[in-house]
Amino acid sequence: MLKNILTGDRPTGKLHIGHYVGSLSSRLKLQEKGDYDDFFIMIADAQALTDNADNPKKIRENILNVAIDYLSVGIDPQKVHIFVQSEVSELTELTFYYSNLVTVSRLGRNPTVKQEIKTRNFEESIPVGFFTYPISQAADITAFKASIVPVGDDQLPMIEQTREIVRTFNRIYGEVLVEPKELLPANEACLRLPGIDGNAKMSKSLGNCIYLSDSYEQLKSKVMGMYTDPLHIKVEDPGHIKGNTVFTYLDAFSTDEDFAKYYPEYRNLDELKKAYQKGGVGDVKIKKFLLQILDNFLSPIREKRKYYEEHLDEVYNILKEGTMYAESIAKQTLKDAKNAMMLNYFDDEQLLKDFNQK
Ligand code: ATP
Ligand code: MG
Repeated sequence: MLKNILTGDRPTGKLHIGHYVGSLSSRLKLQEKGDYDDFFIMIADAQALTDNADNPKKIRENILNVAIDYLSVGIDPQKVHIFVQSEVSELTELTFYYSNLVTVSRLGRNPTVKQEIKTRNFEESIPVGFFTYPISQAADITAFKASIVPVGDDQLPMIEQTREIVRTFNRIYGEVLVEPKELLPANEACLRLPGIDGNAKMSKSLGNCIYLSDSYEQLKSKVMGMYTDPLHIKVEDPGHIKGNTVFTYLDAFSTDEDFAKYYPEYRNLDELKKAYQKGGVGDVKIKKFLLQILDNFLSPIREKRKYYEEHLDEVYNILKEGTMYAESIAKQTLKDAKNAMMLNYFDDEQLLKDFNQK
């Protein structure tokens, strides 16, 4: 069986460190392992329009930003096809057919969409396209016969919805579609990295992000202003780890080598956590430690970004070639799906033969 991978991001802004730990780092590992047939990364512009219909300029601008983010973290266009969703119109067509297989009440139960409706203050004014985007996501995944989808845990309901659509489709029309499986980060802190404001999710739409493209100055002001423990007022006060964003980021990013190099009073994060809980460790000190770690992480990404910003024609061609290839694959799946649904009237003379035999 084919081993294809698909994943993607909405071009609603530049990518942030939540994207890195939640999904980009798994993509890099998969890319290095090379154990796949085809690997697709989709810039989900059509999906981004479902809640940004009045701001097409924002989506358009961010196509290149997101592509540059991919290339800057090390996604290799020789190994991965990066493509733009709206240019593959087969995806829209598949979405239309899949819509017949999903009920309104099933869509309404999707916890991620429910949460997103709340944070976007949609209430009664939810655009139909936004409400149904899990169906279009199923089209994206199945069009490429993807069996592996590297994502953060907010995407689990989408993958589950996709599996249901695949099962229903295959039961009614025959085995055409492939059931996908999510690939979640192993580190718990990376499943859903919180925002710098302590909000449960770092998200472009909430403006609480550390971007992969942040300068040292931007990074510094964000880290030094980060949410910690409101009860930890004086250095001597015992501090809390749970819900303390600085510690969650250390969980996601720090290594024992970082401690040896920059914080030798402690051998590892467990030791630092214990000391913090006892009291006597100041927030400023741990924030400076985190700043050092994040700056080391972002420095090489910034360097690569500079290269691609000066070679935009390369980025443009990577997107164009990736999109052409993606379209050729989606075309074949759409054809298979339509054949299975008996929507292939003009492929041969069978339609007339069937009619004559009646
Ligand atoms: P938007 O606010 O526009 O929805 P977003 O920041 O949620 O943007 P998406 O493009 O929706 O980003 O998500 C792309 C991928 O990144 C998904 O796989 C998602 O699970 C993952 N991801 C996004 N935010 C985080 C986060 N804070 N922690 C871990 N993974 C994340
Ligand atoms: Mg999102």
